[in-house]
Amino acid sequence: MSFFIEIDGWRSNIRFSSAHIIPEYEKCGRLHGHTYSVHVKVSGLPDKKGIILDFSILKDILREIVNELDHRILIPQKNNAVNIIKEKNSVKVSTLGKDYVFPLNDCVFLPIDSTSAENLAALILEKILNKITLPDNVENIEIGVDEGYGQGARVTKKF
Ligand SMILES: [Zn+2]
Repeated sequence: MSFFIEIDGWRSNIRFSSAHIIPEYEKCGRLHGHTYSVHVKVSGLPDKKGIILDFSILKDILREIVNELDHRILIPQKNNAVNIIKEKNSVKVSTLGKDYVFPLNDCVFLPIDSTSAENLAALILEKILNKITLPDNVENIEIGVDEGYGQGARVTKKF
């Protein structure tokens, strides 16, 4: 037998609404937004209490992570096509020959080169693993980020 637990971000309300720019694609090179949801699937053997991992621990961590991203502008810090100049209270983001100026507090700076659903999923996985020590019975974790309902990216890590 194999087991997994699953959290569906749409139905469990693990969501965030954010704006971004993806300079690599013409249409996505204009500032636009999505409502994202985050999904998790954890595979492994149930422990003596019959559980793989406590849902509530996982959901609390996910809520913390999505709250940091919610209602913000997602800025990829590692994109060579995006020039970021931080001032005291604002940030100027230049890309594709256009300049955007945002209030600093409205932005979140992410250590990725593109705010694709794939990269956001990998980043969220990393953040989860920094916040929790998974028990030995966990064999695999999968993180999904949906960019709107019905499309998204998944990333998995085996232990
Ligand atoms: Zn987009």
